[in-house]
Amino acid sequence: MSARADIAAPMGLLAELTHRCPLACPYCSNPLALDPRSAELSTDQWRRVFSEAAALGVLHVHLSGGEPASRPDLVDLVKHCRACGLYTNLITSGIGLTQRRLHDLAEAGLDHVQLSIQDCEEGSADRIAGYDGAFARKRSVAAFVGAEGLPLTVNAVIHRANVERAGAMVELAISLGARRIEIAHAQYYGWAMANRRALMPERAAAERAIAEVERLRKCHEGVIVIDHVLPDYHASYPKACMGGWARRTLNITPSGKVLPCHAAETIRTLEFATIATQSLADIWYNSPAFNAFRGTEWMQEPCRSCSRKEIDFGGCRCQALALTGDARQADPVCHLSPFHDRVEFFAEGAAPTVDYIYRR
Ligand code: SF4
Ligand code: SF4
Repeated sequence: MSARADIAAPMGLLAELTHRCPLACPYCSNPLALDPRSAELSTDQWRRVFSEAAALGVLHVHLSGGEPASRPDLVDLVKHCRACGLYTNLITSGIGLTQRRLHDLAEAGLDHVQLSIQDCEEGSADRIAGYDGAFARKRSVAAFVGAEGLPLTVNAVIHRANVERAGAMVELAISLGARRIEIAHAQYYGWAMANRRALMPERAAAERAIAEVERLRKCHEGVIVIDHVLPDYHASYPKACMGGWARRTLNITPSGKVLPCHAAETIRTLEFATIATQSLADIWYNSPAFNAFRGTEWMQEPCRSCSRKEIDFGGCRCQALALTGDARQADPVCHLSPFHDRVEFFAEGAAPTVDYIYRR
């Protein structure tokens, strides 16, 4: 299947190797209905996916999950990606990674490790992860990564339970030897949507966290790079979700469905092809689901006549669907959306303490 001049090739691929994970984070972006182990692609199928991705123009692969270390063939898959010329980034909770395994991954050609940290206080971190001992384990894994000479990024998702320690997480990441930290306020999809009342911080707390992280960005310039994903619900304009629908990246689920973003399956009116029946290139260029929200032609008002439509592409289609019932609406995060009050209601974060629904 040949490329189309009007559609750019994708640059990145998120490979969800498995939905299995020892942790149970209440903000997990995996779907509520997890793919079982029996449905996962085989080693050979993933190899074929990575070969096709490289031929399609993909430059970097994020090996993710669930916990990708749950796959016994992880080293083989990294080796194959390296042979295809793909840059590999392992997105991991750290659980299941021994020093030996990290050494094997480094030998296989792994380029980068992204380690999630739930909090900088041990008790809270383990409670959020739903796993005793997770925090201590992650500290060890960070040391193993450093010993292998691999670059380390720390991922920290910010929500009600840790919002007052966003700055302290930057300091923790530096002490762990990270060169980069992604401080990302929770995005309300998947399990995070189910836990929205428990996770949403108060607006004032979110604003304090943002100010502190921005202060540290200046303070630690040259020491650590801070990627700061601001909280949607406290913004006036939405983000260009995924850089725009089917513009730069694609996701593959453990069972081989090809999606423009990890939450796209919530849009039930779309049918997503699988790599078992179609090539990656054919899906990228020609599948109705990938073309459904490409560009701006699909938009309705207020996006259709808005000067920002090529900047944020109307925000997130999945969030529009979740909050308005119509995936073609402007993302209600936008203050111009007729449904913006639905975001404002939750953005105050005034819910009483609510227990987590853990993903299990
Ligand atoms: S967010 Fe937590 S539960 Fe979900 S895959 Fe990552 S580590 Fe596992
Ligand atoms: S109206 Fe649509 S395109 Fe304009 S800023 Fe809002 S979401 Fe973006």
